[in-house]
Amino acid sequence: MPIDTHTKILATVGPSTASAQMLEKLVQNGADAFRFNFSHGTKEEHAERYEIVRNLALKYNRHLTIVADLQGPKLRIGTFQTPKVDLQKNEEFVLDMNPAAGDKTRVCLPHKEIFEAVQNGDMLLLNDGNIRLKVKQKSAEKIVTEVVVGGELSAHKGVNLPNVKLPISAITEKDREDLAFALKLGVDWVCLSFVQSVEDVKEAKRLIANKAWVISKLEKPSAIAELDDIVKESDGIMVARGDLGVECPIEDLPVMQKDIVKACRKFAKPVIVATQMLESMIQNPTPTRAEVSDVATAVYDGADTVMLSAETAAGNYPAETVQMMHNIIMQVEKDDDYYELVQRDRKVMCVDDMADAITYTACDMTYVLPKAAAVMTYTASGFTTLLMARERPNLPIFAVTSSQDVARRLGIVWGVRAVVNDEIFNDFSKIDQASRSMLKEYNIGKKGDYLIITAGYPLGQKGMTNMLHTLEL
Ligand code: PGA
Ligand code: MN
Repeated sequence: MPIDTHTKILATVGPSTASAQMLEKLVQNGADAFRFNFSHGTKEEHAERYEIVRNLALKYNRHLTIVADLQGPKLRIGTFQTPKVDLQKNEEFVLDMNPAAGDKTRVCLPHKEIFEAVQNGDMLLLNDGNIRLKVKQKSAEKIVTEVVVGGELSAHKGVNLPNVKLPISAITEKDREDLAFALKLGVDWVCLSFVQSVEDVKEAKRLIANKAWVISKLEKPSAIAELDDIVKESDGIMVARGDLGVECPIEDLPVMQKDIVKACRKFAKPVIVATQMLESMIQNPTPTRAEVSDVATAVYDGADTVMLSAETAAGNYPAETVQMMHNIIMQVEKDDDYYELVQRDRKVMCVDDMADAITYTACDMTYVLPKAAAVMTYTASGFTTLLMARERPNLPIFAVTSSQDVARRLGIVWGVRAVVNDEIFNDFSKIDQASRSMLKEYNIGKKGDYLIITAGYPLGQKGMTNMLHTLEL
């Protein structure tokens, strides 16, 4: 079971990976975390998969992370009288509030808010951006458009409005219900889809009340416009390239990915790069060269986690895909230039004065002490571990915490291996002995090596990191 890499793998669970046997294979092949996509599947299915993953965590002595992804306000058209219609360039096409099945002249768009928010000249993108409609005329219940790029259209296809900020919250009625269910199950992270502004994140965080950490999925230009504020407010970020590549010019994605990863490093928030990473492996046992390079680029960019979507949820080769992703990560992390690249973005960037100073210095010490074997962060909330991971030291990062929840949340953070130990937090004098035995359990370091420890005295209090300590093994 590989925990030999710094970059983590998040695999989406779906029909192809619903069985205990398949999920076990994914763990064996390198998956660190699992995404339950609430756009698909029933509550019963999610509950069943939840149990399987928690049992696998026990079996493999791992803190496997579970992420619940809420559907969010994904807009969809209604139905047609025929299986599909063919929209022709330059023709007129109407979107209205009439629930009757549509034809090649009109279809229902059952989202009242859109009719108020769109302006003449706005673009509506249908079916992953394959069809483009330009608004010519609009009223409270009807949008008349001109087909700019035509094509085949069928029922329930998604609608994206790139430059329109819709007056709707990122959390729909369905999301509220799914969220309550996911929190009751005990998921570690919740993803918010189609975040439009920092207010959406604040609203979700109020609802979630720290029962899970919150990932904002960046898939709207309006979210990119508030990038720093959203990163600061969120606990983690997803570069949701699927919808982002529809809402923005697709050629902008590589630079946006780099900018988002950098912003996350600045504020010490974990970042996931997602969508189409090994897309062709849905059908084939090997990926394209371009896909291999894409995964490698995300790793070189310094992402905490790379994600698999349909490849593991609905593909024919879920176990092989995880293995392939793991192999690519291994190869990149073996490259000496990798650490130089990820540390290029290492600056003294204060999030919290004292803890920043300590984790920054701890990373410097890993260069000064060639025999440093690992860094160990004693943490109550996980915060100091995030600061340590942000420095991207070329060593394993241990997080010692008394909280099982914190340990699980840290599973998608770069380089982190969490250990739950509630005894040590009552007796500071045992810190050396406990640290040694935890390292031994992981088979890391040998006699004469150094362990670099960050902690807060007294131990176990949130926001107290004030100590840097070295220990000769
Ligand atoms: P999705 O989100 O897979 O839930 O759509 C990711 C993305 O849009 O890239
Ligand atoms: Mn999406």
